Amino acid sequence: MKQKITLLIVAIFSISLYAQRSCGTEEYMKQKLQDPVFKAQYDASQEAFQREYENLQRSNFKRATIVIPVAVHFINGNASDRTCLENMAKQQVDILNADYRQTNADFSNWATASAQYPGINAGSLDVQFRLATKNHPTGTGLTEGNIAVTVGYIYGQNNQGQTTDSDPKWAGYLNIIVKNLDGGVLGYAPLGGNPSSGDAVVMDDQAFGAGSGCGIFSPNSPYNLGRTTTHEVGHYLNLDHPWASGSCSSDDGVSDTPNIDSSASGCPTPGSIVFCGNKSLTMNYMDYVDDACMYMFTQGQMTRSLAHLNTIRSQFKTNVLSVDSNVFEQSFAILSNPIENELRLSTANNILSENAKMQLFDLAGRSVFKADLNHRLSRQTIDISALKGGLYILKVTSGSNELSKKLIIQ
Ligand SMILES: [Zn+2]
Repeated sequence: MKQKITLLIVAIFSISLYAQRSCGTEEYMKQKLQDPVFKAQYDASQEAFQREYENLQRSNFKRATIVIPVAVHFINGNASDRTCLENMAKQQVDILNADYRQTNADFSNWATASAQYPGINAGSLDVQFRLATKNHPTGTGLTEGNIAVTVGYIYGQNNQGQTTDSDPKWAGYLNIIVKNLDGGVLGYAPLGGNPSSGDAVVMDDQAFGAGSGCGIFSPNSPYNLGRTTTHEVGHYLNLDHPWASGSCSSDDGVSDTPNIDSSASGCPTPGSIVFCGNKSLTMNYMDYVDDACMYMFTQGQMTRSLAHLNTIRSQFKTNVLSVDSNVFEQSFAILSNPIENELRLSTANNILSENAKMQLFDLAGRSVFKADLNHRLSRQTIDISALKGGLYILKVTSGSNELSKKLIIQ
């Protein structure tokens, strides 16, 4: 009898552990920062971030959409589940886009909830998360045209044969590992992640994606709408929990999140929870409520994420996405107006291939000007002062993509 009671207590305890969301990011960062190489990189990255963050708060300088190449790694996945897992990864990427671009259906709840939080505005980020489809690392079993989803691939095996959450082979991607995590932890991520290090956002196999799941990868209510990944990617984009280190005097570095010292859970009525004398913004993706009850970032959080992205965007591997001609055209803009001595061009990052070129033709169809485009830059300026005023056709070629535009040079 005694044994049964103990078992019952253990069962209740484990249910309550699972009912409370738990994120391992703080603990993970404590461990990572003990490594002096990681710490030096982290400090340098945070310093660059801080400069960009201050810049962004001073000006509204707008750049082209940031395209983020994503790779998803289902550790211990079965090859026979590949199609199902690929669909799960695609769905999760769609959820990230909807949450960060503020196009998810649940966001409509903010219209009423916001009355509880005067002065706080919801924010979005001009990003496109996309599963990479080209130039995959060798030895991963993926071929050209496959989406970057690995199944049963051993991520980050070190010289001692131990696996880590870091794989230099996969530098340049936003990597998401999905595996079984112990202790009720639903996920963790490097705070202010750097793609060049091959570090990954790590998700529990019961808190990734949405829907009915594939084998052991099975989204479990109430964390079954893919929002735990939105939360962990938030850490990767340098967002802290709103309660920061858990005291009223600690700060998450975002000016428009209410100052609080504790997380919320379940599905609280907006405005019903007060910490440190402030109404807790419980529906924020960086809090601990159920997936169905989190649906917004603040503008301040998105400015912070954009500042971090601006400092790491050049680390994303280029030319890993197939781009259809529509996306290519839409991602391209001419910024000079009028066009005088220079042509200022803007493209989404990761769109140009290494051999991208531009050419100008006169109305008689003669090529009068040529220049290489730098595929690593999303904005570039080309000196065209040698050309006389008049009407020209601009042609840009990049891999198999091509576009033409009429230009009037003054
Ligand atoms: Zn967290």
